[in-house]
Amino acid sequence: MNSPSRASAPPESQHSGKVHEGQAIPLDTGQTRAPGVQPVIAVRQLTKYYVLGQTRVPALRGVTFAVNAGEFVAVMGASGSGKSTLMNLIGCLDKPSSGEYWLAGTPVSSLSSDQLADIRNRRIGFVFQGFNLLARASALKNVALPMMYAGLSSAERERRARRALALVGLSSRANHTPLQLSGGQQQRVAIARALVNRPALLLADEPTGNLDSRTSLEIMAVLQTLNQHGITILLVTHEAEIAAYANRQITFRDGRVLRDERNAAPHDATGDLLRVRQRPDEALAESQARIREEPV
Ligand code: ADP
Ligand code: MG
Repeated sequence: MNSPSRASAPPESQHSGKVHEGQAIPLDTGQTRAPGVQPVIAVRQLTKYYVLGQTRVPALRGVTFAVNAGEFVAVMGASGSGKSTLMNLIGCLDKPSSGEYWLAGTPVSSLSSDQLADIRNRRIGFVFQGFNLLARASALKNVALPMMYAGLSSAERERRARRALALVGLSSRANHTPLQLSGGQQQRVAIARALVNRPALLLADEPTGNLDSRTSLEIMAVLQTLNQHGITILLVTHEAEIAAYANRQITFRDGRVLRDERNAAPHDATGDLLRVRQRPDEALAESQARIREEPV
């Protein structure tokens, strides 16, 4: 990566969307921080090549953008356009070939592997298409898992895990294993697990990819409510109907940003859900009441 140790400033976000103060949590890594307002994500000229034998497969060819605290961004693009590669870099799961990345003002490129793992565990929540839950563990145990390394007492871990389950409307399912839950409920457990360390950023790669359209709406309603209460979300989808719930859409083509547009009139997932249902969803109502009461 380029010149990580120089105290160069991350690019300003070109979008002056609603910024929730105090959301850009400075990371406690002892690294130099650029002054002023920090976007949660700032990437500049990010590239990634995969090496396959003698060939270099370009996945990202120079990507620059910033995301402010409180934004809900949909990353769109055809299969192979680089969306998952970008998520892996932003999630500190992989390193770029070149370019720079700041997470809440911290130049990630200069961190050691241990510091990267630490940031990943404490500051980023992941939600994947395939839920990735432990099949034999209860919802509560699954949600508590990311706190294993947080140095908390088991009582505190359980308290936080129950609270996260309440945030996604699953208080009554804490002792169920994934097989005893529907797909939508499993994805809610995964969202609770992603929230349990109070991350600065929620990354979701095709979180509704395995769900039917009504269940997808439930998940979008939970994500939209979380975002309205301050959680910054970056969501990958190839479906325009799903991207319509985000406040901004960044479209990729061949490893580059093709378009970066604000969505002035995002769809309302809760309203859409109520329209397709005969009666309000109790779990969702619980989730939204909890998030309103005590934002994440
Ligand atoms: P998307 O998520 O938009 O479908 P990806 O980021 O998965 O796109 O892939 C971008 C490009 O990089 C594609 O051409 C893909 O084949 C290639 N690619 C992705 N992961 C790897 C890998 N581990 N090794 C080699 N090439 C890869
Ligand atoms: Mg992908």
